[in-house]
Amino acid sequence: MKRILIVEDEVAIAELEKDYLELSGFEVEVETDGAAGARRALEEEYNLVILDLMLPGMDGFEICKMVREQKNIPVIMVSAKRDDIDKIRGLGLGADDYLTKPFSPSELVARVKAHLARYERLIGSGVKENEVIEIRGLKIDKTARRVFLNGEEKIFTTKEFDLLTFLAQNPNRVYTKEELFREIWDMESVGDIATVTVHIKKIREKIEYNTSKPQYIETIWGVGYRFKV
Ligand code: CA
Repeated sequence: MKRILIVEDEVAIAELEKDYLELSGFEVEVETDGAAGARRALEEEYNLVILDLMLPGMDGFEICKMVREQKNIPVIMVSAKRDDIDKIRGLGLGADDYLTKPFSPSELVARVKAHLARYERLIGSGVKENEVIEIRGLKIDKTARRVFLNGEEKIFTTKEFDLLTFLAQNPNRVYTKEELFREIWDMESVGDIATVTVHIKKIREKIEYNTSKPQYIETIWGVGYRFKV
């Protein structure tokens, strides 16, 4: 469930916002003090923060600035004064949206949903662009299909690369040789599970410091292999 923090000192408004957001399926917490709100926004895990501008303790400007320095979650600022909204827009504090009070709760819900969806897309595409797996000195660049160990490139064949990447993407899970064979070699491939053993051995020679005590691909005797994270 997505978690939202509302920092708002007018309890009636905060409760109204909370009710509407909860009806839309969000988990909502309210903080009425600015300084406490800032602390929670920074220390706890929220998917979105709604900030009132005028607050006791610390104003919405300051909170927004602090959140922006550490997090890229969406921030929506609200204020009773149109002028203030124009002013904060001008300051470029990095809030994602601004609302002038009074606004309809459904308007707020619509904006919250839009910003969360946009943020998800951003994060999602970020993962795709950066298809690199890094574990204890081992770096697998999926886009370039290259493998590095402590910065030194190791040359992998296609199947070795596919096998290593598959295991590294599904860490801490034990796969049998049969499963790995089916996963990496297509169904029609002629071959047997000994092929998997041979490939694991070759991968280990390239990435393990000590192949008899592998730190990446572990042998689970009688079962198969597991990539350790
Ligand atoms: Ca206020």
